[in-house]
Amino acid sequence: MIVSKPYFEIRDGSDFEKEYETLLSIIKGAREETGVRIFIGLGVHPSRISDFKILEEAKIAMKKGIDIAAEYVTERKADAIGEVGRPHYPVDEETWEASNEIMEYAMMKAKEADCAVVIHSESSESTFKEISEIAGKVGIERRRVVKHFSPITKNTFGLTPSIIGSYKNAKEAFKSMEDFMLESDYIDDPDRPGVVISPKTLPRTVKRLMNEENVDVYRVMKDLPEKVYGIEIE
Ligand SMILES: [Zn+2]
Repeated sequence: MIVSKPYFEIRDGSDFEKEYETLLSIIKGAREETGVRIFIGLGVHPSRISDFKILEEAKIAMKKGIDIAAEYVTERKADAIGEVGRPHYPVDEETWEASNEIMEYAMMKAKEADCAVVIHSESSESTFKEISEIAGKVGIERRRVVKHFSPITKNTFGLTPSIIGSYKNAKEAFKSMEDFMLESDYIDDPDRPGVVISPKTLPRTVKRLMNEENVDVYRVMKDLPEKVYGIEIE
């Protein structure tokens, strides 16, 4: 699952379409070159809110970006909405409220488009509870709300946690969690090669865990993603 990241400065909502098209063309090339199946999430990263001087303009633009992402899902050009959410760093109260409003809007559009939504957020004691409450208000199936960069925890309030697949982390997750997914959180940034985990490392880690720990990899890498994202993995 590849999610869209900021490529350009955004002036208004329709600029997000340029970003989505950029990602789709990169993915098209990758598919042709490697034959690998790639699933796609399109969204407006919560950090984008600070690109705007006026909060109202940010809300309008980011909601428009979410509308476009949902259209792509409906047209089956993408599989999920994400990353969306709220900043993982402290912001003032107005920005926080606006971010929650945008996140709620994204969940609403994901529900309409019948897809999952990938959440980027802080990880505090109350994060899962708060986001789960918003999901409940919207009426989206909580399992389809994926909290990425999740801590190792059982208290996910029905949301799907996605865990950074470092060896230590993944091993711990297999031991102590029931339903979770693994991610690399790989950022395709030439200035920071290999951040957070390179795409090659995650499969190696999983293979090692299968050999050494006999973990149930199908549950984590097939059954759950199929249910959450409504996809099929051979
Ligand atoms: Zn993120």
